[in-house]
Amino acid sequence: MPLSGLDIFKLLPKTNCGDCGVPTCMAFAMKLAQKKAELSECPHASEEAKETLGAASEPPVRLVKIGKAKPLEIGNETVMFRHEKTFFHQTGIALQLRTSEDEEQLLSKIKEIENYKVERVGEELKADLFFISHDSEEKDVFLKTLQLVKQNSTKGIILDCPDKEALKEGLDWLKDEQPAIFLKEEVTDKDIELAKNHNASLVLTAYSFDDLARQSEKAKQAGVNDLILNLASKNAGLQLQHNTIMRRSALKKNFKSFGYPLFTFIQGENEFDFLAKASLFLCKYDSIIVLPRFNKAMLYTLFTLRQNIYTDPQKPIQVDPKVYPIGEPSPESPVFVTTNFSLTYFIVSGEIENSGISAHLVVCDTEGQSVLTAWAAGKFVGEKIAAFIKDIKLEQQVKTRKLIIPGFVSQISGDLEESLPGWEVIVGCQEAADIASFVKTVKLT
Ligand code: SF4
Repeated sequence: MPLSGLDIFKLLPKTNCGDCGVPTCMAFAMKLAQKKAELSECPHASEEAKETLGAASEPPVRLVKIGKAKPLEIGNETVMFRHEKTFFHQTGIALQLRTSEDEEQLLSKIKEIENYKVERVGEELKADLFFISHDSEEKDVFLKTLQLVKQNSTKGIILDCPDKEALKEGLDWLKDEQPAIFLKEEVTDKDIELAKNHNASLVLTAYSFDDLARQSEKAKQAGVNDLILNLASKNAGLQLQHNTIMRRSALKKNFKSFGYPLFTFIQGENEFDFLAKASLFLCKYDSIIVLPRFNKAMLYTLFTLRQNIYTDPQKPIQVDPKVYPIGEPSPESPVFVTTNFSLTYFIVSGEIENSGISAHLVVCDTEGQSVLTAWAAGKFVGEKIAAFIKDIKLEQQVKTRKLIIPGFVSQISGDLEESLPGWEVIVGCQEAADIASFVKTVKLT
């Protein structure tokens, strides 16, 4: 049973010193009970408290890291639904490499995967891991593949190698790289020993809840606690059910055997089936999905979905409010106005750029809200935009006295003109995609 805030409070020093960042021991106890803090944040906790609260204050889903240079962190989730709080560690996307492919083919695939990056709303999106399946007869080919990956990539590695001797040599070669070992079969003492000696995590595979819980308990008892769970299921519906039950058991029932990140190897009959499954398990509740083939269109879709799911809904991504030059604007160039919601900014600036003109883009502080939301909340209205424009002394930066506002907020044009004497307000198009045609039909300066 999870401990209540009051149970935890009884074990704390009760001095209310505030060294943990909250003013009272009771407030800290409540944070611990909600898994929003860790006991180590109280420097005065007694040994008894550490012993009693140690396990109870562990996050319900363990944090596991794979890789060395920029390790992928997965797990440590505290909620079932993103809107309850947020999801913290985004699903790692792994691409499969097979050792049976010839060296040239492998090298070009590794390079292609490594170089595929998408920039979206100011973030760089890319795949996180290589999943190396040893399906050739020869041990040396496995080691050669590891070498190719290490020479051409900094991504973390999951090893799928049924040949334990080759696996051991591979792990020796990957010393200090924090890889993960994927097990298709029941975990053995040998697997546990390899994981312990090489600082590797284990991906456990089972076909029933009981079996998975038993294996995770066995590995934990033997000293390997960096586990990732793969409950293989017959179809996507069943897998969704399994994933939901495991996440719920970990969070709501504090069932420690399922308190680890989840894993799925995605298989599909065609590209649509494949993408649907990958999207489903990315949302609920896998921490790693493995894709058997590299497909840019599919990856782009998954990157976008992942970015949306793992963005904190309480903190919209925003850009700094200021004037942004688009292209190489002169003082005579037109002035567009928008909000500082990242997605809005990147779409509008991109469309202005695509239209072939240079312009000034005034990005107002709307606390990261989009145009209509900010308008409805009273944050993107004539008076506030005018105050911002005066504040940044726009008149000294440009010669034009025309402002182009988004077509969706045409109703603020009168107020804005009243608040900014000497300026003319032009109502722009509603959709950013129409900017290119809009700039050709209207005199903007
Ligand atoms: S640091 Fe420890 S003793 Fe001090 S207020 Fe926080 S919980 Fe209480």
